[in-house]
Amino acid sequence: MFLPPVCLRCQVLLEVSRKNVDVIQTKSSAKALEPVNVYKADVWSCPNCQVSVAMFQGFVHRPYASEFRSGGKGKFFETIGSILERKINFLYWFERSSDRKRVREVERHAEEKIQ
Ligand SMILES: [Zn+2]
Repeated sequence: MFLPPVCLRCQVLLEVSRKNVDVIQTKSSAKALEPVNVYKADVWSCPNCQVSVAMFQGFVHRPYASEFRSGGKGKFFETIGSILERKINFLYWFERSSDRKRVREVERHAEEKIQ
């Protein structure tokens, strides 16, 4: 049986607050911040204090989109482009918290690849 996390502050179980969120995993280098995989996750939130976490779906955490999977890079960047266009229901998975400031690079990267 699956048990959700317990909120450390309120000591109650987290509840699903949003389903099927796209998580864009990025690879970070000195030169660029690139999207590499996309996973599906559900957002779990504390009903009391609203602390939230994204939990990956399923037991085998395979990306549903990747530049190395069928369709190749072109199809992958089309997927990234349509997620970014939507502007909601996605989040990034950064290697480092400082990568958050470089998010525009991911968007620019996706735009370049789908043109
Ligand atoms: Zn709480």
